[in-house]
Amino acid sequence: MVDARAVHKAYGSNQVLKGVDLTVQQGEVVCLIGPSGSGKTTLLRTLNHLETVDDGIILIDGDLVGYRQDGEKLYELPEREVAVRRRRIGMVFQHFNLFPHLTVLQNIVEAPIGVGGQSRKEATANAERLLERVGLGEKGSAYPAQLSGGQKQRVAIARALAMNPRIMLFDEPTSALDPELVGEVLSVMRDLARDGMTMVVVTHEMNFARQVANRVVFMADGHVVEQGPPEQVILNPQHSRTREFLQAVT
Ligand code: ATP
Repeated sequence: MVDARAVHKAYGSNQVLKGVDLTVQQGEVVCLIGPSGSGKTTLLRTLNHLETVDDGIILIDGDLVGYRQDGEKLYELPEREVAVRRRRIGMVFQHFNLFPHLTVLQNIVEAPIGVGGQSRKEATANAERLLERVGLGEKGSAYPAQLSGGQKQRVAIARALAMNPRIMLFDEPTSALDPELVGEVLSVMRDLARDGMTMVVVTHEMNFARQVANRVVFMADGHVVEQGPPEQVILNPQHSRTREFLQAVT
């Protein structure tokens, strides 16, 4: 499903990803953990070409998302073509990124109608079903400003699901929430995982990683330091960097 090989990325002289390999199988839930600045968000964003890469290659379902290949060289695709290739990759951000001037329902149907070619009727029926699924069946006509952070994030999840993605990428989806709202979002994510969705989740929620992830990937300083099942990486880490990090956060 995801096959990232030797991914390098720098911002100016700041080398953020220093040769990262990551594979994700269909139906797998992978949690990316690690200290602040280790490159987790950057890696996630390279997977759907929200960030370019300097070197290395990323395939999603066997396709390059943001590039076309000509021999050894990669050429970046125009944004319009990237948007088409990105359709099957759902993304949920820390700060929700809902359109404030659109209702909840309009936020969800926008891409399926505009990019996915669905009829308004079909997209609306699907959006209503998804809102039920994330526990917000009554909120279709509300505006984002009328919702709590947890509700906004659940709308953002429904919006990403509306494109019928093959994989969902979550970038610290609960970091901006008040503590009492974290649980409702994690619960929706837990249900998604149980339904077999392939997920890559950047998170600081160690309990979620322990309970839901099939695999935990620990990153530090632009490298994958250690990865494996949660009981191994979180409960019995092999590397001193992982141990230090876990002692600091748990
Ligand atoms: P956190 O847990 O704090 O979100 P992270 O592991 O997700 O950290 P990244 O957000 O990937 O780390 O950032 C890695 C490094 O890249 C940091 O030094 C950050 O300042 C830098 N960085 C990230 N995005 C940009 C950008 N758009 N422009 C310049 N530097 C960036």
